[in-house]
Amino acid sequence: MPKYISEESFVERVYWLIKLRWVAVISIIFAVSFAGGILKIPLVLFPLYAIAVIIALYNLAFLIFLTASKNKESRNWFLFVNKVTNLQITLDLFCLAILIHYSGGIENPFIFYFVFHMIIASTLLSRRASFLQASFAVGLFFSIVILEYYGILPHYCLIGFISQDQHKNFIYILGVYFVFVSALYIAVYMATSITKRLRGHEKDLRMANELLNEKDRIKSEYVLRVSHDIKEHLAAIQGCIEPVYSGITGALNKKQEDLLLRAGQRTEKLIFFVKALLEITRIKLSKHIEMDYFSLPKTVASAISFVEAKAKDKGIIVDCQIAPAIDKIKGAQIYIEETISNILINSLKYSRENGRVEIILKDQGNTVLIQVTDNGIGIPKEEIPKICQEFYRASNAKAIEKTGTGLGLSIAKQVVERHNGRIWIESDIGKGCTVSIELPKE
Ligand code: ADP
Repeated sequence: MPKYISEESFVERVYWLIKLRWVAVISIIFAVSFAGGILKIPLVLFPLYAIAVIIALYNLAFLIFLTASKNKESRNWFLFVNKVTNLQITLDLFCLAILIHYSGGIENPFIFYFVFHMIIASTLLSRRASFLQASFAVGLFFSIVILEYYGILPHYCLIGFISQDQHKNFIYILGVYFVFVSALYIAVYMATSITKRLRGHEKDLRMANELLNEKDRIKSEYVLRVSHDIKEHLAAIQGCIEPVYSGITGALNKKQEDLLLRAGQRTEKLIFFVKALLEITRIKLSKHIEMDYFSLPKTVASAISFVEAKAKDKGIIVDCQIAPAIDKIKGAQIYIEETISNILINSLKYSRENGRVEIILKDQGNTVLIQVTDNGIGIPKEEIPKICQEFYRASNAKAIEKTGTGLGLSIAKQVVERHNGRIWIESDIGKGCTVSIELPKE
């Protein structure tokens, strides 16, 4: 495998080559039919169509092999795929040479299509392997020209396309062969030089990304440790405030009671904030989340019951519609329930009294769509793209609700993405907001 190419992008390119080959097969059939049928060039059709079929068959075989063994994805597997790709390109060159032989040999202008194969080889293989492929093509073409020249192989002249048979014209052969060889080597040289540079940049970017991820991990571990400590201290402070406030340690005057009440409320908010911070950090650091089948309708019902009291306080109606086909999905039930609860809490928090919140579950085949819509204050359009960022709170929300962590939606985003789902928000300021979550059933 070329030195700097990542294994994932290499496999992606091999799939691209396979796709390209389907296009080549169709093009061969079309070109042969067009030249033979419409331009009336006398072609020997059977071997030309046969080659197209052979290319299609080995392409199918490579596709099946790649797809069937995809989950192996070990280093050895990648090396093996690299060898197979080398073989694919060799076969492509061989088939093109046979096509050329049956359709005019040196007289066929399609000989320059070898250049495309060289470019493909240069983007997929190492420089050395690309030059070897170029030499193979040069040798193959040389053999066809010489064997046809000495009459060992028959020559299929393209009468109707060229006025004079050229396969024994030495000067013509020399000229075309020289351009052919130089075009191939120059193409490989240029393409491998460019891809080497690009691969270098790709490698730098990958390394920078790895470094950033590592730094992010260290930062998250640090936040986890610090917030854990803070939470313990806050819990201890809360434990001290409560008995004093409730009068166990002696009677309090009004001023003392007031101050303790405020201290207690602030401590509670801080504990809530630190818990949210701990949660998002834990999700980020956890490599694996335990997933199992659970009933989504039951989970939604449980999330609704969690916010019912708050909805009643504000006189808000919570309406729920679940498509009958929706039942169990695979995921982390606790996280999903918490995510739905958080979104419902936001809808209540940012809705006016006597508003309406609607939760709809739609079946979309392999996925389910969960939509929570309210008719509250909404989010300014320009702030929507930032709304799932950690600690971000929209300007209008800050104005009406002083407290808030700005972490609820970023936790929701983390949870949804860990389920390979997606979350998005649509809103009109003053009219309301819809939070949509799409989750795969498996
Ligand atoms: P918090 O609600 O604690 O501020 P979130 O992360 O849950 O944090 O939400 C981030 C921001 O998104 C909120 O501060 C608010 O500006 C906006 N937001 C979320 N849900 C709604 C909603 N239903 N209506 C209006 N704004 C919302």
